[in-house]
Amino acid sequence: MRILRNTFKLKSFRSNQLEAINATLSGHDVFVLMPTGGGKSLCYQLPALCTSGMTRGITIVISPLKALMSDQVFHLQGLGVDVVSYSGDNDMSTNSTTNSRLRSSTKPAILYTTPEKLKHSQIAQSILRQLWETKQLARFVVDEAHCISSWGRQFRQTYQDLDQLRVDYPGVPIMALTATAKKVVINDIITKLGMTGCVSLTSPFNRPNLQYRVVPKPSAKTFLSEMSTWIHRNHPNESGVIYCFSRNNCEQVARELREKHGLKTDFYHAGMSVPEKEGAQSAWQRGDVHIIVATVAFGMGIDKANVRFVIHHTLPKDLDGYYQETGRAGRDGKPADCLMYYTFADVKKLEKLIDKDDLESSVPPSREEKARQKEQLHEVMRYASNITDCRRCYVLGYFGEKFDRRQCRNGCDNCVENQGSIEEDMTEAAINIIQLVQSARKSNFDMTESDCRDAFRGAETKAMRNKGYDRLPLYGAGKGIDRAVTERTVQHLLGNSILDTYDITNGAGWTNAYIKVCALHESLRICVFMLSCLGWFISRRRIDGESKGHDDGAQEAPF
Ligand code: ADP
Ligand code: MG
Ligand code: ZN
Repeated sequence: MRILRNTFKLKSFRSNQLEAINATLSGHDVFVLMPTGGGKSLCYQLPALCTSGMTRGITIVISPLKALMSDQVFHLQGLGVDVVSYSGDNDMSTNSTTNSRLRSSTKPAILYTTPEKLKHSQIAQSILRQLWETKQLARFVVDEAHCISSWGRQFRQTYQDLDQLRVDYPGVPIMALTATAKKVVINDIITKLGMTGCVSLTSPFNRPNLQYRVVPKPSAKTFLSEMSTWIHRNHPNESGVIYCFSRNNCEQVARELREKHGLKTDFYHAGMSVPEKEGAQSAWQRGDVHIIVATVAFGMGIDKANVRFVIHHTLPKDLDGYYQETGRAGRDGKPADCLMYYTFADVKKLEKLIDKDDLESSVPPSREEKARQKEQLHEVMRYASNITDCRRCYVLGYFGEKFDRRQCRNGCDNCVENQGSIEEDMTEAAINIIQLVQSARKSNFDMTESDCRDAFRGAETKAMRNKGYDRLPLYGAGKGIDRAVTERTVQHLLGNSILDTYDITNGAGWTNAYIKVCALHESLRICVFMLSCLGWFISRRRIDGESKGHDDGAQEAPF
């Protein structure tokens, strides 16, 4: 507490910080999952300064980005903390000062380094070895630990090699921190770092001060003027970020907003030189520039408290990214807006890019990787085109967190606009769909999701007749049920593993996904039992029955 107040000038701990600090000081491995802006840094910076009694030695912090590192070093030095850093870009003289500090009798409390330096520098390795032999390694900290997992969005080859830490320096506690809550990624982190039996701390992901909204993307002609009107009206002279999906896009949007619409903008993307990027970022941090128009390259470790809005000019590639990117708004706890412009055309555009290997990655993705990227994109599409379910429930559900819709407190467009909605029990429809899928399998039909919806609703199309779906016993059982409601019901069945998909690749090399009843639930009685137990087949429908204009072909999406 003394260090918290005197050194960090903070009053109290946030959730899980004290737990993480105590666990690492007791010598445990610790895994910390906290949303962006949750305060992960303090979990290792503070214990690094507790060097009395049992714990002593240096805390080694491994961080993926130079910019991230220098920010933190600068901040800590400002607080009077004895900290040194290694990075690829440090000139020889700084590195040799760092080296001699590490060898001296008055050692710094914290060393920041990149995984590259650990891997490639003989001197760094021999210094670490010496520290280990003299029991002066307090702990290893792996920040942004999701970079270790190829399932993560920011996979880094050199992070992989951190699996050697446990082997090379046995007995040194490890702390891994991330904001990525995907189960596969977490498992990867823990196994790769060898942290079996670690203390695992997870913080709630809900960000109550963020208002989520998805609006149909206007036509190119009026898009930027509509966007700027929204900004001028809701956030005049306030800080914001606009995420675009390509570098060109960023530059062009920034220019047009500046020149035609009187907004103070700059852009940021991976194609810029380091000084250019730093210039743009610091002008924005200072408030000289209000809005930064960026690709996803912008953001990891950005610490600006008063970002009042984050706009997605194009839908993000996955919900993980969406959560991280919107999470940069409102870190000060005051209200902030997250606005996504959505059109199905953008989904198609991103799909083409996935097929062309154009998404910024160094190694061309494998086939499975592409399929995975598409599935993640479709998840965003479902999120964006869904006009009924609470957006918070949806995003938090994606991270495996059950969230009570009432707690959204009108914090998303769907909650605001669905106040006049009615609830319908869709159990019967769900059972009919299951039986339809079963009967299709019995007749050896490979049925796509969209065929299933059409058959259920008894669409009188040529395709239905040609494929023979109109002869299935439950064809048309859902006549009169809204298209979107049908889609959501099928989605629920898929999402809860009552229905499942399987792939078939045809002679031309195209892979299509078809649906079947999940093997576990082949007996209809079990399905019905599941449905009645879970009781989640309540569907909301707006009384006016109108969609907000998302009806731009999303239903035709390939699954
Ligand atoms: P993360 O790494 O989880 O994204 P940071 O460690 O960068 O988050 O912290 C985000 C912000 O929260 C920083 O401005 C930090 O000073 C602030 N912060 C962290 N812990 C506390 C605390 N206990 N009380 C108040 N502010 C805090
Ligand atoms: Mg951080
Ligand atoms: Zn909501």
